[in-house]
Amino acid sequence: MERLVIIGSGPAGLTAAIYAARANLAPVVFAGYQYGGQLMLTTEVENYPGFPNGILGPELMEHFRAQAERFGAKIEFVDVTKVDFSGYPLRVWADDREVAAQSVIVATGASARWLGIPGEERLRGSGVSSCATCDGAFFKERHIVVIGGGDSAMEEALFLTRFGSKVTVIHRRDTLRASKIMADRALRHPKISFLWDTVVDEAKGEFHLTSLVLRSLKTGERSEIEADAMFVAVGHDPNTAIFRDQLELDAQGYIVSRDGVHTNVPGVFVGGDVYDIRYKQAITAAGMGCKASMEAEKFLEDLDAGEPAVAASAASH
Ligand code: NDP
Repeated sequence: MERLVIIGSGPAGLTAAIYAARANLAPVVFAGYQYGGQLMLTTEVENYPGFPNGILGPELMEHFRAQAERFGAKIEFVDVTKVDFSGYPLRVWADDREVAAQSVIVATGASARWLGIPGEERLRGSGVSSCATCDGAFFKERHIVVIGGGDSAMEEALFLTRFGSKVTVIHRRDTLRASKIMADRALRHPKISFLWDTVVDEAKGEFHLTSLVLRSLKTGERSEIEADAMFVAVGHDPNTAIFRDQLELDAQGYIVSRDGVHTNVPGVFVGGDVYDIRYKQAITAAGMGCKASMEAEKFLEDLDAGEPAVAASAASH
């Protein structure tokens, strides 16, 4: 029986692990085959406090991981495939192994969203991508298109100017959602141009992306532009498929919590982008991971002390 299982290894999961390990809970972190969360797919992180000159996303996550391991967190690089929170103890399946746990922190984050247009899936890896850091270098001196108007789209567009001959941002409205500093940088950049009020209806190309079919949302007019790469940066969906029948989720699939820490199941806590539809920052995820860990610790203390309400609510599950 584990005291605490943490599912996820982004800033929320690994911060929870640091706090729980320092509280002698010897947490088991199911980190996934690809640990580190979304910061592993980013370049320079300029707004994480403590790094005045910025730090690369993967390097930051390496620090999180080393810090958690230093205090005794057991990090396993496997995916959780199933959970059963209908009884107590809580049950988690990682690979083919079943683990019983007295408490669980869910910090599975969110994943990049796609447009769902014809050609997009077929050409993924052949010109269509959601990760500029991973794939940008393949498009030296090419025309690169970025879809979206948020910070991710601006960040990707700016990063891709290192490679592309030109970068075109296609956004469905005529104002950017991105923060002012990021928007200004992109708007000022000589290599970046914008197509406003426009959506992509189709990605075309036999073996590799060659063009995009566009539609103006103002006039309905359709057109086609040549493009060697399309980077999709239109937000994220929470990674909650395995919790669908186990935890209360909202209409968009985010975990419901009255206080951003507790879920509807006693002993199961939440942190990071899997709950947070609003802020979605590494620093806020880390803060939530800290809170989730402290609440798990309190829950276990009460359980150990035979606190009637905690024992009863856990047993009734
Ligand atoms: P956002 O939700 O902020 O932005 C998504 C963008 O994609 C919006 O402009 C949205 O349009 C557009 N969009 C959504 N769905 C579609 C669709 N189907 N077709 C076309 N366009 C679509 O997501 P981000 O990933 O950009 O950012 C998430 C969070 O992470 C934010 O809080 C952001 O601040 C943060 N972040 C911060 C960074 C930094 O500080 N360096 C870097 C990256 C992210 P519309 O505007 O019309 O809704």
